[in-house]
Amino acid sequence: MQTNLFENIFDDLSKNITPPLDMHVHTNWTDGKNSVSEIFKAADKINLSHIFFSEHSRQESGDWFLDFKKEVTDNNKKNKCIGIVGTEVKVLNYNGDLDLSKLILKNSELVMASVHRFPGEKGNILNNTKNYDKDEVIKIEYNLSMAALENPQTNILGHPFGMSLKRFKIIPPIKLFEQLIKKSAIEKKAFEINISYHPNIVELIQICLKNNCLISIGSNAHTDKEVGKINLFLKKEYEKKN
Ligand SMILES: [Zn+2]
Ligand SMILES: [Zn+2]
Repeated sequence: MQTNLFENIFDDLSKNITPPLDMHVHTNWTDGKNSVSEIFKAADKINLSHIFFSEHSRQESGDWFLDFKKEVTDNNKKNKCIGIVGTEVKVLNYNGDLDLSKLILKNSELVMASVHRFPGEKGNILNNTKNYDKDEVIKIEYNLSMAALENPQTNILGHPFGMSLKRFKIIPPIKLFEQLIKKSAIEKKAFEINISYHPNIVELIQICLKNNCLISIGSNAHTDKEVGKINLFLKKEYEKKN
């Protein structure tokens, strides 16, 4: 995996410098609005050095991934910003298995594991928040995340506690975030800090730095306008400090 990239992000953040990377972007290959080349243009415009095309995929995903990969590779020859090819997949169960095909694993530079639903849940789940106890939701997401961190296929833990935060509007205790960060550090995985999910970005960065945990930063951009959202936020934060 691209450990150097995450070390660079860590170094920049430890010096209150905004890292010029956006490590969470979707395109019209899945549920994003813009094409790969439009995303590249947006990234070049704000001088990003790297962008991670973290396209959604599943175990049964087909050959489209190879065409997607080729499009990113071709665009890399035409643009300043470097596009990284990979995937965001969901955590399937408490063994930490990922919903990831062998072909896509083989063709990915990075794999981001995210908790998107409870094990076995099917269909449109976004509005289904009934019948779940708050502590139970947090516990389930925590356990799935801990298991995914032990999976050697995982490089990044995507938007940690994102399901609790977004779907259930629950803010888990900070000590549980810290446990995930400590586990990420032990497993040498990158802990993602995501502008679309986390209300406590500055605090999470501090905890990652304190625990020597690799950090990924992402916007979860689904349009070209959202590319660099996390970087803009950090820039403003650091301007306040200086
Ligand atoms: Zn996600
Ligand atoms: Zn995503």
